Amino acid sequence: MKSSKLRIEITPSRGFVLFRKTNGEWQEYYSIGGPIQKRCRICGYPLAENQNCNHHKGLEKLKFDYSVYFVGYYETNFNGNPLNIFTKRIIDMRIAEGKKYYDELFLILDSLFKLISKKQTITWGSWVPSRNKILLKVAYNLLLRNNINIVKPDAIIKTDYHLDRISDKRNYVLDKYQLRKIYNPQTSQIIENKSGIIIDDIMHTSHTLGRIFEIFNNFNPKCLIGLIFSRTGKGKHNLYLKYPNIPENKK
Ligand SMILES: [Zn+2]
Repeated sequence: MKSSKLRIEITPSRGFVLFRKTNGEWQEYYSIGGPIQKRCRICGYPLAENQNCNHHKGLEKLKFDYSVYFVGYYETNFNGNPLNIFTKRIIDMRIAEGKKYYDELFLILDSLFKLISKKQTITWGSWVPSRNKILLKVAYNLLLRNNINIVKPDAIIKTDYHLDRISDKRNYVLDKYQLRKIYNPQTSQIIENKSGIIIDDIMHTSHTLGRIFEIFNNFNPKCLIGLIFSRTGKGKHNLYLKYPNIPENKK
C-alpha cells in the first residue's frame, strides 16, 4: 500500500483515525487510542479519577526528566489473538508479514512524533535495541526524515539477546542491557543537554524503557522522551509475542 493512499487525523475524542483512499474516495479505515483522559504523571497512562496507576513499575525510581508518549493499546484475548486492527499491526510488525504494513506503521508513529515536536525541540533520537526489522526501519527512517541526529543504540548499549527470561524484571533488564565501557565523545556531544526520543514498539511493565532511559541518562540529556507504538492494557496478557497465534481471516 502506498503512503499517498493513507492519511491520518488525530482527534481529542477518537484518538488516531486512519483513512484510506479507495476508488478515489477517502474512507475511514480504523481508529486507535480513543478519547483523551486524565493521565498518569509518571507514565502517561490514561486513568479514571482517583485511580492509581499500575503500569509503570520500571519507571518509578527514575530521578531525571523524561516523558512517555504512545499511540494506542495492545489488546489480545487469552490465546494471544488481536482484538483490534492496530494490535494486529503490532503483531505483524514482529513477523515477516509486517513488511506490507511498513508505510502504514511509519505514518502512525511519524504523526505522533510531529505532534510532540511541535511542543518541544527534539534534536537526537535512538531506539530500544531490537531484532524486529520493521521497527528498526521505522525508527531509522523516522529520525532521518525529520532531520534528527541518529544515535545507534549499539554504540552505547551492549545487549544480551540470549538471556533467559526471569520473573524479576528489574534484574532481567539490568543483565540484558548494559552500558558499554568505552567513552564516546561524539555521542556525548550529540546527547548532552539536548532532548531526545527513544523509539519502541510495545511497552508492558516499562522495565525495558526505564533501563534504556537510565543508560542514555549517563550522557546527561536535557530530557528523554519515549515514543512508543503500543501499551498493554489492564489485566493479563500473553506477552510472549514472538510466535503469536494469528487467525487466517483477520486482516
Ligand atoms: Zn503510570
